[in-house]
Amino acid sequence: MFATKLRCLRCGKEYPLLMKYNCSKCKGILDVEYDYEAMKKKEIGSHLSIRKDKGMWKFRDFLPIRNKESIVTLREGDTPLFRCERLGALMNLRNFYLKDETRNPTGSFKDRPVSCAISKAKEEGKNTVITSSSGNAGVAVASYAAKAAMKAVILVPSTTPRNKLLSIVCSGGILIKIKGTTSDCFNLTAELSRKYEWANLTSTFLNPFATEGDKTIAYELYLELGGAPDWIVVPIGAGPLLAGIYKGYKELKELGLADRLPRMVGVQAKGCAPIVRAFERGDPRVEAWGTPHTIASGIADPLQGYSGDGTLTLDIIKESGGVAVAVDDDDLIESVRKLSKFAGIFSEPTGASSVASLKKLEHKGILEENDSVVCMITGSGFKDSYTIEGYIEIPPKELEPDLREVENLLKQKLT
Ligand SMILES: *Cc1c(COP(=O)(O)O)cnc(C)c1O
Ligand SMILES: [Zn+2]
Repeated sequence: MFATKLRCLRCGKEYPLLMKYNCSKCKGILDVEYDYEAMKKKEIGSHLSIRKDKGMWKFRDFLPIRNKESIVTLREGDTPLFRCERLGALMNLRNFYLKDETRNPTGSFKDRPVSCAISKAKEEGKNTVITSSSGNAGVAVASYAAKAAMKAVILVPSTTPRNKLLSIVCSGGILIKIKGTTSDCFNLTAELSRKYEWANLTSTFLNPFATEGDKTIAYELYLELGGAPDWIVVPIGAGPLLAGIYKGYKELKELGLADRLPRMVGVQAKGCAPIVRAFERGDPRVEAWGTPHTIASGIADPLQGYSGDGTLTLDIIKESGGVAVAVDDDDLIESVRKLSKFAGIFSEPTGASSVASLKKLEHKGILEENDSVVCMITGSGFKDSYTIEGYIEIPPKELEPDLREVENLLKQKLT
């Protein structure tokens, strides 16, 4: 293992590599550090493409888990990267790619951070894990806990999509619905985790081991593209997914593999856009949002009580030379349709926000026709179908099993 310690991103204080959630001195975000010199000596980079393991754990030299036996996996990662000419043409982009994270075991990229964080919990001998979630992380934690024979406590806002709740209940997770926002769940979860010493797997920046799982997306993109694209477009709640991908590329550059870094685009919904608001106003710090109003439940995080998480993401976007943009619910539904119709991928509205942002970026003259652009499709439509049904009608008409009737209908449809 090459991970060495935790370091506070604000004050620099160092800690041993144990499950810890914030800096004791300044409450800052903790980050996992590695011995990159040792990795260079062992030529870890050149082994990247030849490892035979399946899924994201083939990158375990880049992850902070000591023993192979601790790894809890449902074979997350290794998701396809599609070059998508039809959709690209609509957006006026010649080098347009979709990274299809709906193909993870529980239908969202959250399987990556959860697999990494729960493996650390197992390594430390924990048998109960807890998470606050807007849905997908809860499904992932409940499923991975089931695999590892651990107990899972999941706190979600009561507005969470029903399909996600169903999956949590089925896998034996203890589901607690809160009449409030993701932030209310976050704050309660932190308190419960402290009081009962349960491992808090909440995949904001709270758990430094979770963010590490997100890095593996960068390694996969690097192997397929042979470097960094010009842009990576990412739906963001607090932003660890975006931060993790960027950190992954920084490591690849540090190891002399990638020769440049991508520019990061963070996408939020207009009805809950604390990071975009700060970006547009030029504020140095992100302030918490009020009540979210959007169908993009996966990124509806008002950051109440941990707005510093948003500031870290804002800083990373700026450092990368990227932008933050907000999209409205109509754009989201249109993009769900487009992704299905032109790429064959059924995404939840949150997951399609990356694609929804492209029109805006083009209007603003930010994207150029020849730029290479990777859109992250972060979560599956099958797990948020009740939301989508509110906008897209399933034809009500039912036919008798009669060839004539069927042909009559086809005649109308095929012209
Ligand atoms: C959680 C989630 C996000 C946001 O990721 P963060 O790392 O919390 O910023 C985006 N899309 C989907 C589908 C999610 O579930
Ligand atoms: Zn600190």
